[in-house]
Amino acid sequence: MTILKIKAKEDLKLSDLKKGEVHRVQVLVSDNAMGVPWRVPLIIIRGLEKGPVLGITAALHGNELNGISTIFKMIDAVKPDKLKGTLVMVPICNVPGYLENKRHFSDNVDLNRIMPGKPHGKTSDIYAHHFIQKIISKFDYLLDLHTASHGRVNSLYIRADLENEETRNLAYLQNPQIIVQKYDEDGTLRAWANDNNIPAITIEIGNSNAFQHSLIDETLEGILNTMKHLKMMRGKSVNLMDDAIICDNSYWIYSQRGGIIDVFPTLADKVEEGQIIAIVYDVFGQVKEEVKANRSGFVIGKNVSPNCEAGTRVLHLGVSEISPSHGDIPGNVS
Ligand SMILES: [Zn+2]
Repeated sequence: MTILKIKAKEDLKLSDLKKGEVHRVQVLVSDNAMGVPWRVPLIIIRGLEKGPVLGITAALHGNELNGISTIFKMIDAVKPDKLKGTLVMVPICNVPGYLENKRHFSDNVDLNRIMPGKPHGKTSDIYAHHFIQKIISKFDYLLDLHTASHGRVNSLYIRADLENEETRNLAYLQNPQIIVQKYDEDGTLRAWANDNNIPAITIEIGNSNAFQHSLIDETLEGILNTMKHLKMMRGKSVNLMDDAIICDNSYWIYSQRGGIIDVFPTLADKVEEGQIIAIVYDVFGQVKEEVKANRSGFVIGKNVSPNCEAGTRVLHLGVSEISPSHGDIPGNVS
């Protein structure tokens, strides 16, 4: 077992990296309280031939870890001498959050609400600014890997603007259980990328603080399919979406009462309007509230933490104005 010494770099200059090789570097961003820069780890596979730069980012929320394993599996799946273009993978975007095993940055700000940060802002703003400028701005495409938050579970689902052709194509190349139409929410990494001509989607892979290998492998398959579509790898892209459900909107259903909650449907289940999806008990085992679905839809994610205050998120419901359908696959995908 050889462990390479990793070089630190002030900036990411892809053209300086040797073609046909796998590179591991740390990019220095803003200073921490030790007076030294945070080091963001990058794995870069530079192909021999020209092609696009595909960025894959994980753990922008520091406890969302399935993307890390996905990236590690990508290293084995992509051979630099067969690659066209460059794959830039960031297994841990939010370094302080990861170290504390939490979603937020060290100042308790959600990095995925403040992009692109500010050069003279708060602690998290400065980090976000350098992270965007030094790393993300070098991409041509972005797949941002997330999971559910702590105390909740997610299906394997995609958030993407399906009204935009490029991001719809990226979404339809994946292998998800559910795809949800989402306009880019302000301050997200995806929004910044799409605003800057870097087509981007979010892939939500199951649960926080875990490696769920069946979902990771399905994500991997979708990413490799995307690379074939972008002509970065040999082979034809295929339609992996046979069973995917496409929703044109989604929202959370909340509890009104507090107590002990039990949420019943399983992930990707269909629920009917009026169906009881959860019961809130008082601490003596008496039923206080039956939480019902106010529309028919599909379970994208749900709460799994039994302690429940009034106003707790119970179930993330994917809905469609028209009945959910399987999507059209991108033009040159067979
Ligand atoms: Zn996240």
